[in-house]
Amino acid sequence: MKSKTGVFFHEIFSRHDTGSMHPESTSRIGAVLRRLQAGALWELCYRPVTRQANEDELHLVHDRHHIEHVRSACETGPSQLDPDTVVSADSWDAALYAAGAGIEAVDAVMAGELQNAFCLVRPPGHHAERNRAMGFCLFNNIAVTARYALEKHGVERVLIVDWDVHHGNGTQDAFYTEDDVFFVSLHQWPLYPGTGHPDETGSGAGQGYTKNIVFAPLTGAQDYLDTFQRELEPIIQHFRPQLILISAGFDAHADDPLAQLTLDETHFADMTRFLTEAAGLWCGGRLVSLLEGGYDLTALARSVEAHVQVLVEASG
Ligand SMILES: [Zn+2]
Repeated sequence: MKSKTGVFFHEIFSRHDTGSMHPESTSRIGAVLRRLQAGALWELCYRPVTRQANEDELHLVHDRHHIEHVRSACETGPSQLDPDTVVSADSWDAALYAAGAGIEAVDAVMAGELQNAFCLVRPPGHHAERNRAMGFCLFNNIAVTARYALEKHGVERVLIVDWDVHHGNGTQDAFYTEDDVFFVSLHQWPLYPGTGHPDETGSGAGQGYTKNIVFAPLTGAQDYLDTFQRELEPIIQHFRPQLILISAGFDAHADDPLAQLTLDETHFADMTRFLTEAAGLWCGGRLVSLLEGGYDLTALARSVEAHVQVLVEASG
């Protein structure tokens, strides 16, 4: 008997070639897939067919000029969009499918076909801004997904929780002046990209709808988890989300090479449980999670497995 959890995936994600030395490598997807497929979990999840986002959907967040810039860079073959962000011939299709996975997941969750979903995608998205690729990210998958939910499904309040260890600068920028998306980012400080100070809280109508929660390197996992729950609880009660989205990076794991936080897979499971319970309470269980970072392959695979396990339990 299947649960009502979907895992959105496309084989093209393993062909977005960034080079073998790049931390955001093609091996990440394979490591996660092998782990998910080895256990019973895989059979409990739906694996819906995904599609590419179209340009109008990308344009919900990105300028046409940026979309064209990414397309031509990919067509050119291996090239570099910023010091960290590499593309190759298949990156264009991979990027369209990565954004499309979030859109398809929202469609399925809003239709009640699925309770919740995990999008096993790359390239990641949360650093991508309206006008530029950045930090391994070409298009902002979760911002496109949130904007799509607002515009196509009439959702009025979307909560985005970004627990990737890096600040989700692109997502923050996309909704900084709006009160229909509450953006919460939990990240190590100081760390790339250098934004996400607690003073950044939104502006105009969006004042108070951005929350940046920062952790010093080596912060204890229990401290992190306590802060997560203490800060999120009143935000959720006050904001009353109709849909919860997670920028699920797993690079706050103790074994991750790009940061110095101390979580393990049990803590990602705890945070997932907290948010599935909140979704159950406030938004009919509707929750969509998109993969962001996570660069130790074993830690990433185990963390995704723990995350999806809780999604399945919540939707079963
Ligand atoms: Zn990250």
